[in-house]
Amino acid sequence: MPKPRLGQHFLVDLSFLGLITKSAELSRTDAVIEVGPGKGVLTKALLAQAGMVLAMEIDERLANRLHEKLGHSENLEIRHQDARRVDWQAVNLELRQKGYKKVKMVSNLPYYLATQMVIHLLATQDGCERIVIMVQEEVARRMCAQPGGRDYSAYSIAVQYYGKPSFIKKVPASAFQPPPRVSSAIVCIDRRSTPPIELSNPEYFFILVHGMFMHRRKTLRKCLQGVSGMPTLLVWEKAIAQAGIDFKRRPETLDMGEVARIVTALEK
Ligand code: SAM
Repeated sequence: MPKPRLGQHFLVDLSFLGLITKSAELSRTDAVIEVGPGKGVLTKALLAQAGMVLAMEIDERLANRLHEKLGHSENLEIRHQDARRVDWQAVNLELRQKGYKKVKMVSNLPYYLATQMVIHLLATQDGCERIVIMVQEEVARRMCAQPGGRDYSAYSIAVQYYGKPSFIKKVPASAFQPPPRVSSAIVCIDRRSTPPIELSNPEYFFILVHGMFMHRRKTLRKCLQGVSGMPTLLVWEKAIAQAGIDFKRRPETLDMGEVARIVTALEK
């Protein structure tokens, strides 16, 4: 029986596998990390093209089944492991030390951990070069959204600060068994080697972005009102003016550079 709390929706429409592996641009010099191999349909496709696959599965029963099914493959390593507890930098280093030129993450992720894990992976120093994942469609759209768009959020800014995401394809719920309640989508994210903007204090930048987007449809002047831990109205207004941005703009229309200008003015 699939365990809903572990996001166990298994891919049964295998026509999407080709698109996933194509987006990952795999070669034998790549090591691939797969979180949640489940019954191994994607694992098998990855093994056919990558140098090796490191598959991490939290469900012991599924990890054992995968051993029985694909354990004979020399280029597969299966770990019965909770991916939320992984030291990604150490894993990346370990795979590179084995001689692989690139480390990529290719996974059909359980919905409940996708948003946090992607940021964590992207922020990892010397982490995966490319991430190709199946996630909830709404999350995929937020990752890729541009200023002014319906899905643009603090999360879009965070993902795009660390990486360059592209929306590959929507995947209907009927492609999975059991079908989830919502659609999914395949996203490809290339990790940036250098961030697109210079920040003296990235942590503060993200705290502020989060605060601003709590009321993303209010004007810039009013968006922080009632949000705890944010600058006072006077300090805030001064910073917006110094950054040369119109008070009547809404956070949802600001690009990353404009937000960075406000943060820099605040820091001064
Ligand atoms: N890759 C398979 C497929 O495409 O059919 C299964 C994908 S299913 C959406 C998610 C998989 O992630 C399940 O096998 C589930 O047991 C596993 N999983 C859930 N939470 C996990 C965690 N914290 N660490 C590792 N694997 C996890």
